[in-house]
Amino acid sequence: MRKIGVLTSGGDAPGMNAAVMSIAKSATMYGMPLVGIKRGYNGLLRKSTSVYDDLQELYLDTVLDIADQPGTYLRTARCTEFLDPKWREVAVQTLHNMEIDGLVIIGGDGSFQGAMRLCELGIPCVCIPGTIDNDLAYTEMTLGYETAVNVCTDAVRAVRATSRSHDRPHIVECMGRHCGDIALKTACATGSEILIVPEMRWSIEQIATRLNKQLFKGNTRTTIVLAEGCWDSMEPFDHYKFLKDHGETCYEGEPISSERLASILKHMCGMVEMRHTVVGYTQRGALPCAKDSGFAFEAGNLAVRLLRDGVSNQVIGVKQGQVFYMPIQDALRVEKHFRRDLYELVNSL
Ligand code: ADP
Repeated sequence: MRKIGVLTSGGDAPGMNAAVMSIAKSATMYGMPLVGIKRGYNGLLRKSTSVYDDLQELYLDTVLDIADQPGTYLRTARCTEFLDPKWREVAVQTLHNMEIDGLVIIGGDGSFQGAMRLCELGIPCVCIPGTIDNDLAYTEMTLGYETAVNVCTDAVRAVRATSRSHDRPHIVECMGRHCGDIALKTACATGSEILIVPEMRWSIEQIATRLNKQLFKGNTRTTIVLAEGCWDSMEPFDHYKFLKDHGETCYEGEPISSERLASILKHMCGMVEMRHTVVGYTQRGALPCAKDSGFAFEAGNLAVRLLRDGVSNQVIGVKQGQVFYMPIQDALRVEKHFRRDLYELVNSL
């Protein structure tokens, strides 16, 4: 194998640039030219008017400057065309035209599916898990998850200070799509009193009861941590009617949100104030923490070595603290287990 390519795909995650730097350093060491493919699989479909907008030779000079940067220098995007076999043939043709012999793909499970399809078409691929959600069960670490938890932990601590000053409970909303891990670890790290995640059924009445218990104990600065995907596991509740009946403005069909939940709990628990904060994209745009950057460094080097040695169709991960690799299809079959014990502990203390 001579020339290789690298792309970042799906949602961006802190540590993606650090991985690209490690890949570039390793490729240089092994005498393998490296091409950066822009905006996930889109770059391979050559949709831009300028080739430099799709594909870019990566030199050490360029990537050394991006190693510690958040976001992804290569850009990232979803690429719906890639679900279509016809477009995947176009991608393979681009790789042949560019004489790219193998790919490192940094992304989540969707991006891994794309990599498997490319392997079936004879393009060797190795994947690095890059997603803040931590929704890949085969690995103990994904690039960005630890950083996202640190950002949320800082957010809860800051919010708690103002909660304390004003005797005002607060809801903090974390990302994670359908995975509650960021919220779970944040709640544990901050000693938050109430946790709401998509993995566990919950009701607004149940949360109000827990909050009332905290208030009764004198904890007027209770923190509720919730994961953005938790609305899917909520017991039905007519928030529109409830809010209208309590004199709040709410338009018909408006989805439930942290802001609305704060209003509902305020009325249910007879409080003067209840506030919410959505941590949002600061979780994705944060500087990678040392743990994520360290993983990126090892994973980037291993990915290049695997391609150099003709090993393909693999994902890199961490098991018992050690970086390892396994076939993509086997990794995607590993079932995710939510730490129900920790969830119950947070909600019971
Ligand atoms: P993530 O990689 O973070 O899970 P997505 O699920 O959005 O993000 O997937 C990223 C991209 O991977 C998609 O936009 C698409 O280009 C590609 N992809 C996802 N699923 C498949 C699939 N089944 N076959 C081929 N490509 C896929």
